[in-house]
Amino acid sequence: MKTIDLRSDTVTRPTQAMLEIMHRAETGDDVYGEDPTVNRLQSELAERLGFEAGLFVPSGTMSNLIALMAHCERGDEYIVGQQAHTYKYEGGGAAVLGSIQPQPIEFEADGSLDLERVRAAIKPEDHHFARTRLLALENTVHGKVLPLDYLAQARRFTIEHGLSLHLDGARLYNAAVKLGVDAREIALHVDSVSICLSKGLGAPVGSVLCGSFSLIDKAHRWRKLVGGGMRQAGILAAAGLYALEHHVARLAEDHANAARLGEGLAALGYAVEPVQTNMVFVDVREQAARLMPYLKEQGITVYPGPVLRLVTHLDVSSADVERVIEVFAGFRP
Ligand SMILES: *Cc1c(COP(=O)(O)O)cnc(C)c1O
Repeated sequence: MKTIDLRSDTVTRPTQAMLEIMHRAETGDDVYGEDPTVNRLQSELAERLGFEAGLFVPSGTMSNLIALMAHCERGDEYIVGQQAHTYKYEGGGAAVLGSIQPQPIEFEADGSLDLERVRAAIKPEDHHFARTRLLALENTVHGKVLPLDYLAQARRFTIEHGLSLHLDGARLYNAAVKLGVDAREIALHVDSVSICLSKGLGAPVGSVLCGSFSLIDKAHRWRKLVGGGMRQAGILAAAGLYALEHHVARLAEDHANAARLGEGLAALGYAVEPVQTNMVFVDVREQAARLMPYLKEQGITVYPGPVLRLVTHLDVSSADVERVIEVFAGFRP
C-alpha cells in the first residue's frame, strides 16, 4: 500500500528528471562566489521577481533570519503576525541571534495584519522603546493568499512610516498561481522576499532571499556568520532552477486536488475551512482520538491534532485524493 503523506509540501522527493539535472550541474566554491549554477539561480530568481539581487541559503528559516538581521540592527523591532513563521516557528532566531525584538500582532481572518493595529504598535522615537524598523508579512499565510490591494496598502503604509517591508514568501508561487498573476506583481510591493524551493516547488533543499544589492550584501555577511555558506551548492541550485522552470504552473494541480479534498470531506459532514491553495483545514475534534490511528493504519500520514492541516503537493495525485476521501468515508467513529 502506498502511503500518502499529507503533513506538508516539504516531503516531496526530487523527481528523476530533477535528479538528472542535479547530476550534471556545473559547480564551484560558492563561498568564493564561484558556483555558476548558484549564481544563475540567484540572478534568475531576482530578475523574475524584479529585484537587484538574490542569495541562495539552505532553508527558509535562515533566509528569513538573515533578512531580518539585514533590515534591523540590534535593539530594533519588527512587527509580525502572532502565528507567523518568522515569529513563532523559527526558534526565536531574530531575538536570539539578531537582538531584534518582535512585536507580534494577531492576524486578521484573511491572514493580513490590520494596518491600524500595526500603526498603534509602532513605537515613538524615545529611548524607552525599541526602534520599530520593519513589517514582516507572509504569503501564502496558512494556505491563504493576501489580496494584492492589501499589499499595495501595506507598501504605502510602510513608506509613510519609514519602515521596511519583508515578505515571507515561502509559498509565494502558490499565491501567484492562485491569483493568476506573475509572482512579480506580488513581489513589487515589498523590499525583500524569501522564497522556498523545497515546498510546493519540489526541490530537495534551499531558499532564496531577494532584495536590493545593499540588502543582499548585508544578508550575505549574516549568511556566513550563521554557517550558511555552502561550497559546491550548484547541485542544489540546479534543482531549484529546474523547479522554477517545471514546477510552478503545476501548483494549480495541487490547488485543484486540495479543493477536491475539501469538497469530499465537507460532503462527509466535516467542517472544512474554505480552501484557497494547497492546504485543507478540517475540524476532526470529536473524532480525533479514533481517527488518528485509523488513518495511520490506512497509510495516510497526517500531523495529529483537533484541526488537521492536510497539504497537497507533487507526490499526491488526484487518485490519491480520491483514496483519502474513501478512507475518511470508511471511518466509523
Ligand atoms: C516552511 C516555511 C518557512 C521556512 O522553513 P524551512 O523549513 O526553514 O525551510 C518559512 N515560512 C513559512 C511560512 C514556511 O511555511
